[in-house]
Amino acid sequence: MKVTIDETKCNGAGICVMQLPDVFRFQEGSKKGAVTKAEVPARMERKLKEVASQCPAGAILVIAK
Ligand code: SF4
Repeated sequence: MKVTIDETKCNGAGICVMQLPDVFRFQEGSKKGAVTKAEVPARMERKLKEVASQCPAGAILVIAK
């Protein structure tokens, strides 16, 4: 499974980074979220979907394979 962040929507709330630091980080020089994993392990799927639903900007897109 893959995940991306729509940077035009991300408002830097940081919930993704706090909740799943294995997958998300802040971009250097800005507070926008970035994805660190090209492929997210299946064991993280539930948490990933939970975090995506908590993003206040609706900027996290989970792509099921
Ligand atoms: S939770 Fe959403 S708005 Fe906040 S940094 Fe992550 S992607 Fe951006």
